[in-house]
Amino acid sequence: MSSNLAKLPTRLPSIDTLLRHPASLALVDRYGRDAVLASLRQLLDDLRDDVRLGQLDAAELAAPVLLGRAAERLAAQHRSQVRRVFNLTGTVLHTNLGRALLPEEAIDAVQLAARYPLNLEFDLASGKRGDRDDLIEGLIRELTGAEAVTVVNNNAAAVLLALNSLGARKEGIISRGELIEIGGAFRIPDIMARAGVKLHEVGTTNRTHARDYEAAIGPRSGLLMRVHCSNYSIQGFTTQVPTAELAQLAHRHALPLLEDLGSGSLLDLTRWGLPAEPTVRQALADGADIVTFSGDKLLGGPQAGIIVGRKDLIARIKKNPLKRALRVDKLTLAALEAVLGLYRNPDQLAARLPSLRLLTRPQAEILQQAECLAPALAKTLGEQWAVSAEPALGMIGSGSQPVARLPSAALCVRPQVSKRLRGRALHGLEAALRALPLPVLGRIDDDALWLDLRQLDDEAGWLAQLPQLQLPQVQV
Ligand SMILES: *Cc1c(COP(=O)(O)O)cnc(C)c1O
Repeated sequence: MSSNLAKLPTRLPSIDTLLRHPASLALVDRYGRDAVLASLRQLLDDLRDDVRLGQLDAAELAAPVLLGRAAERLAAQHRSQVRRVFNLTGTVLHTNLGRALLPEEAIDAVQLAARYPLNLEFDLASGKRGDRDDLIEGLIRELTGAEAVTVVNNNAAAVLLALNSLGARKEGIISRGELIEIGGAFRIPDIMARAGVKLHEVGTTNRTHARDYEAAIGPRSGLLMRVHCSNYSIQGFTTQVPTAELAQLAHRHALPLLEDLGSGSLLDLTRWGLPAEPTVRQALADGADIVTFSGDKLLGGPQAGIIVGRKDLIARIKKNPLKRALRVDKLTLAALEAVLGLYRNPDQLAARLPSLRLLTRPQAEILQQAECLAPALAKTLGEQWAVSAEPALGMIGSGSQPVARLPSAALCVRPQVSKRLRGRALHGLEAALRALPLPVLGRIDDDALWLDLRQLDDEAGWLAQLPQLQLPQVQV
């Protein structure tokens, strides 16, 4: 009977018929008539051959069914390209995954700034035009001890702007051990060149002495620069001139010392058991004239570049026309103010600032979470995979403390197949996890896929989508 039905002559409905169907009204309302029309035409074109060959029955060609298929296609085409993911890579401040997560206070502030007009560059007391830096200057001065502050789009912009404002057409003196490259083509020599500062490198990769800087200082010198080696470490037979000594040397020659701190921590992280990282306050107290740092690394805020230091130098930086090109937007400023506000109460910071909360999660707690979740994953994956809860080592990320490891825990997934097939099996599993509605990102290491749970807050959401995992077939 059904085989008879399948052979009945079937025809595609006309576009007009489909458009008049009530189900298409909702689609037109949502996506617009042109998009719906284009989608229906495409769908009918795609089906034409199958219809001619009699491969579709009447039920498959009913208007509601076809409109349902069009709706699926339209939804896929219009799906946001910005996707939430689960970062189970073990790297907390992952540059490719958006770095720091904002606290609720900052999210509220962003919403407010997005929804309403605000005093972005308007002084409510005088009724006159204001400066957007004024919104956060007081707070940053309080938290760092700086004389003055300006904020730009990111730390790369901060370094470019500070160099160009203070050293253009002059020489920038820097140790060969600090000519760093950060991911994404940020290289100190290139940035210096673009800033119009002539690079004058001194010392060697592993050892640079005060006398090396001293010998380089001359009539063409514009500034001394120090760059925090954030994404590598030089160990062994090394010498570095401490910031305090370098600042004294610079000041004897009436030159400014510019320090790029990179992640730039506002508080001593060792109080939370994290590796020591130089603080902005300390760099300024040591005599650095200008210090630059990121907003979305250890500070735990939005992407921003913060420039602090001497008032006269900040004034020069603010007058540079490039400042306008690199300026920070209102949503960022709103978020930054809220995040900085949390720093006023350090005792509560680890509870309120997501990045610090995640960085300080105890390993025992994460391991326990892994033990709880392992059975569910094992059940989903089936017999070809062994799932276990294991201690693991994570990283802070974003070039903060490249050598330090965060004791963490992970779901460790090993394919139970011959060694020859393991690589393909693991990459298949990795791809299947990426294809989930909320993509899950882990890392492959030592013939296993590791899902580091330090950052798994939404356990329910993670578990709920496991049944949708479409595993590739692995031969044994
Ligand atoms: C990360 C980093 C930068 C770049 O900062 P962004 O905020 O990513 O632009 C520059 N210098 C150092 C030392 C860094 O660690």
